[in-house]
Amino acid sequence: MKKFYRALGLMFACLFLAGTLQASEAKNVIWIIGDGMGPDAIGFFMQGVRYGGLKDYPEKVSYLEQFLQNAQWGLFFNNTYDTVVTDSAAAGTQMATGQLSRPEFIGVDYNGQPVENLLELARKQGKAIGIISDAYVADATPAAFTAHVKNRKEKMEIARQMVAFGPEVILGGGLKYFSTGENKKLLNTAQKEGYRVAKNKKELAAVKSGRVLGLFADEAMPMAVEMHRYPKMPTLAEQTQKAVELLSQNKNGFVLIVEAGKIDWAAHAHDTGAWFYEMKALDEVLKYAQAYADKNGETLVYLNADHDTGLGAFAYRHLGKQKAMEKTAQGEVLYGGDVDYASFGVFARLEKQKSSLYYLEEELKKLPAEKLTPEYLQKRFSEALGEEIDITQFENLTDVSGLFTQLNESRGLFWATPSHSSLPILSAAYGPQADEFTGVYHNTDILPRMKKALGWSEK
Ligand SMILES: [Zn+2]
Repeated sequence: MKKFYRALGLMFACLFLAGTLQASEAKNVIWIIGDGMGPDAIGFFMQGVRYGGLKDYPEKVSYLEQFLQNAQWGLFFNNTYDTVVTDSAAAGTQMATGQLSRPEFIGVDYNGQPVENLLELARKQGKAIGIISDAYVADATPAAFTAHVKNRKEKMEIARQMVAFGPEVILGGGLKYFSTGENKKLLNTAQKEGYRVAKNKKELAAVKSGRVLGLFADEAMPMAVEMHRYPKMPTLAEQTQKAVELLSQNKNGFVLIVEAGKIDWAAHAHDTGAWFYEMKALDEVLKYAQAYADKNGETLVYLNADHDTGLGAFAYRHLGKQKAMEKTAQGEVLYGGDVDYASFGVFARLEKQKSSLYYLEEELKKLPAEKLTPEYLQKRFSEALGEEIDITQFENLTDVSGLFTQLNESRGLFWATPSHSSLPILSAAYGPQADEFTGVYHNTDILPRMKKALGWSEK
């Protein structure tokens, strides 16, 4: 009898699930891409909020964690046509077009032929479209959704194609690609096409309808850990909110791509504190997007990444004596005293960081060697990290990059590579048709799934 009730319960559960899963198609999409956001970045950030000390999170739960609690998960691979590891150009292209491509290719398949992308399809469906990047808008990820060129370095051409394509909303960094050299008159062209140009938070706030081209920095926007120095620049979350406000005026709905572009940059530089704050910038976007989706009811929020960068995580390390760990004949590991498993207090220390170590490194590289005394380095690094760093760390220093490794490892943090890894990527979908994005898949399957979710193709 017990079995019967269990079976009955299961049946009702299935019916209930089928009912909810067949909710009508999504009218709007907010697709948030964390550039370089592998599972390592996700785990690191969620734990950082749980065990750190930021006042912004009195409940000690990130919006990312809340979003993941409510979303449908999937895991996908991102290999290109003939390589295991990808870059943002190929990954963005494969996600935007559903076609296999090659590293450095933008909006073209592996033969170099232009392929229609999600935003072009969305426009045909009468939807308003938008693209945001807190790196710069001519960078690989936003380019993959708005241009078709054989090399990501063709940034001037990408900017021209972007304006010619004409998404209703273009926001982020990269003013110089629209206002210098061969593109000197591109802003004027954009204005003739009906764009309002905004260069700061105030000018962006003044745009209440129509098209907007907001470029808030000459190149990339500052690293999130430094944003406190730039109060006139809109944050990524503020840009997202304005984009939705404008795009949602279209009665046929909208598709908006939001790139948190510098999670990748911080990870390339092994700048762990900066990595945390780039994730926090994405977290603020999720806070807004999930609340909007809840209120609106017709909006699918899709969160993923293009690839992992850095393979960074906490790992235990031996303090001094290697004897602390020995292998027995059976391969069993015996743990002894002198092993540091990293303490939770590390997170609160990381959160004290005030500036980007990568920028600091660039600055220090330009100084003559005699200027780089242990005292000077101690002063600069202590200011940047927000805590007094022991002067012994800077003695006998030969290169600044080595110092990063040393600083990270003294906190229990290890990075395996300065480049991208092939780690599979986590996806999470929330809202109508979120179940389209479950299971194990490949990044070329995203577009077909997106089309189904939007009701553009048969199930
Ligand atoms: Zn990268």
